[in-house]
Amino acid sequence: MKNITITVDVEEDCPPMLTSTRGMEEGLPELLDLFKKEGIRATFFVTGMMAEQYPDLIDRIPGEGHELGCHGYTHARFDRMEKEEARLALKQAGKVLRQFERKLVSFRAPNLQFPKSYLGLLEEENFLYDSSIASYKPPFLRSKVKSKIIRIPATITSSFIRLPPGLFIPLIKHWESPVIFVHPWEFVDMSNTPIRLDCRFNTGEKALNNLKILIRALKAQHYIFLTLQERAKLEKYQ
Ligand SMILES: [Zn+2]
Repeated sequence: MKNITITVDVEEDCPPMLTSTRGMEEGLPELLDLFKKEGIRATFFVTGMMAEQYPDLIDRIPGEGHELGCHGYTHARFDRMEKEEARLALKQAGKVLRQFERKLVSFRAPNLQFPKSYLGLLEEENFLYDSSIASYKPPFLRSKVKSKIIRIPATITSSFIRLPPGLFIPLIKHWESPVIFVHPWEFVDMSNTPIRLDCRFNTGEKALNNLKILIRALKAQHYIFLTLQERAKLEKYQ
């Protein structure tokens, strides 16, 4: 069964470089509309702060059949926090996000940085799945971690789908069960914003169109679109 998991990290624009939230106001509604139109589901990892600021938008996520996951409270990096600080951040995020989704089981840390020694904190907060690692970054899993948490790596970095579709679609098809991720701010034109190139090239309409082309190409080949939770359950039975 060919499958793909699309994940969206919901946060302020290109953190920590910007604090604007154009992605929330313009990009996230566009993404939700696209997924609805295409009839597919995704996993949205949301920061507690964005959920507090945009409750109506966040309500749409579980309301439209998507999985709501946790992306920390602020976008601060967990690998730069003391353990107690990390515990509090998870607790605070969980408290906010569970008002939208009682069954909050998936987590992804900002910048895909989450110390292995903190996995127990995820268990304390009743998370089951963690996607804070990347197949393209060391230590190239899958090392055995003593934790009940199932770790599902992201297959490829987010700006990848802003390359020409003729280039990235064959690669995505080549991977087995890929987990891709995007951000709402990538679907807003950031080309005139003074930030690093990977945060602004081909953002806005181009990015949205690329994502649409990808979804349609995969649908044409009968791919199934899984949430992270569903994808992790498959892992268990392999
Ligand atoms: Zn993030």
